Amino acid sequence: MEASKFNDRKPVRTKPWSFGLISSEEIGDLEKEYVLRVLQKKRLFRYGGRQDQSEAYALEQMYKERTKVKHGLAVNAGTSALISALIGAGVGPGDEVIIPSYTYIATATAVLIARAVPIIVEVDDSLTMDPQAFEAAITPHTKAVIPVHMRGVPCQMDEILAIADKAGLTVIEDVAQANGGSYKGRALGSLGHAGCLSFQQYKLVTAGEGGMLLTSDDSIYARASIYHDSAFTFWGNDRFARWGTESSVDFDPFPGENYRMSELNAALAMAQSQRIDSLVDRLQRLKGRIVEGIRDIPNIQLQRIPDPAGDVSYSLVFYLPTVAQAQRFSSELQQEGIPNGTIDNNGFADRHIYKNWTYVMNKVAISDKDNPWTNEHYKGHVEYAPDMCPRTLDWLSRAISVSLHQSMTDEDADDLIEAVRKVAAAI
Ligand SMILES: *Cc1c(COP(=O)(O)O)cnc(C)c1O
Repeated sequence: MEASKFNDRKPVRTKPWSFGLISSEEIGDLEKEYVLRVLQKKRLFRYGGRQDQSEAYALEQMYKERTKVKHGLAVNAGTSALISALIGAGVGPGDEVIIPSYTYIATATAVLIARAVPIIVEVDDSLTMDPQAFEAAITPHTKAVIPVHMRGVPCQMDEILAIADKAGLTVIEDVAQANGGSYKGRALGSLGHAGCLSFQQYKLVTAGEGGMLLTSDDSIYARASIYHDSAFTFWGNDRFARWGTESSVDFDPFPGENYRMSELNAALAMAQSQRIDSLVDRLQRLKGRIVEGIRDIPNIQLQRIPDPAGDVSYSLVFYLPTVAQAQRFSSELQQEGIPNGTIDNNGFADRHIYKNWTYVMNKVAISDKDNPWTNEHYKGHVEYAPDMCPRTLDWLSRAISVSLHQSMTDEDADDLIEAVRKVAAAI
């Protein structure tokens, strides 16, 4: 790119860019009403009164209906949902769990907390798990796989489910970044054996912190429920009794944590969750307009979206042919008034890229005596290295990413299109 092509340029965008965080931006009267209602009731604990008047219970019912699964378990974080799902599925010492190289570090950590070994595989041009890499990583020790719907983009679930089914693996979807998304008409989180949502601040729906485990598997639900609450069977709730008598589930309690969700968080998540469909609608129209406006540009390659109709659509990603061009493109786009970033090489250790997961790369566990990699039950072997997933690093280092949000106007979208076209033409 010739610097001179931009001499004396007037940026496409002169007024300040419109920033917005999707969920917290929506906090308004409904959230206040729901939270105040909890304070007025003076009931902050889900088992502190009638179960069917609990906010956490109501949130579970809402997500069961939304996603058409049999059970919902409200928890205090997305990480807790993942750990409970893994324990629920019987994952433990000696097991391997396959995860993608591009995901929030907690996906890997959850596997380690369950005392299993994370096996990291490449993502492809969708920036989600490459099904072939997944299949190639299966060993006799593999117990489960965690496809992650990164940045609201649904994974290649047909391929992943078929491979998992053939190998008899449990599929736990990490839906932390894709609440409201779908794959071929089915809600994300309902396609595998379990799905895990997060209500942390940066997700589509927030309660500050919070999470939800979704499953139609009685055994996963029972075990996850026991694990999420050390006193689960003492609260007098009848959650197993209603469906348990004719099922083969083993209800014998075992030690658990305290991952329960508070009534305040549940109320916030309830208020926010009312808006999922209208938010996703708005984001999809916005992203659709932008994609239409830039899809014919030579030399940029749009992120492949396995099912565009199910994309939550708050993230726009495209690739340049080389790393140098991507870095140049990113800074020129910035100078056109459009904030954006490359994903790798951003000048900080991104917690979503495997090579920065130091304690995983170095096989450091909570205790040397209780280390999933050296545990006597683990008969496999895995090596990690920062360059072990070169294709992932290649895609991420050539990617330009722009965050979208619901308050962007059509004018914002059109400025973005014009700026991308202008910078691309100058390359
Ligand atoms: C946020 C996130 C989690 C963890 O959720 P918390 O609520 O922060 O514990 C897990 N996986 C992915 C992909 C995430 O983005």
